[in-house]
Amino acid sequence: MKVKVDQDLCVGCGLCINTCADIFEMKDDKAVVKAKAVPPASEDCVKQAKDECPVEAIIIE
Ligand code: SF4
Repeated sequence: MKVKVDQDLCVGCGLCINTCADIFEMKDDKAVVKAKAVPPASEDCVKQAKDECPVEAIIIE
């Protein structure tokens, strides 16, 4: 699984960082992905973060 954050959509609410701190981090008031290739153990929290994101900025590939 790969994941990215659409920087134009992200409003920097921080929800995905709270949900999945191993994958997302805050940079310049936007969420960015630490590791584009998601380890299997983190796939569930990435999916949860995607579902929770208020602006649908998290894209799973
Ligand atoms: S949950 Fe969505 S809007 Fe909020 S910081 Fe993460 S990517 Fe950005």
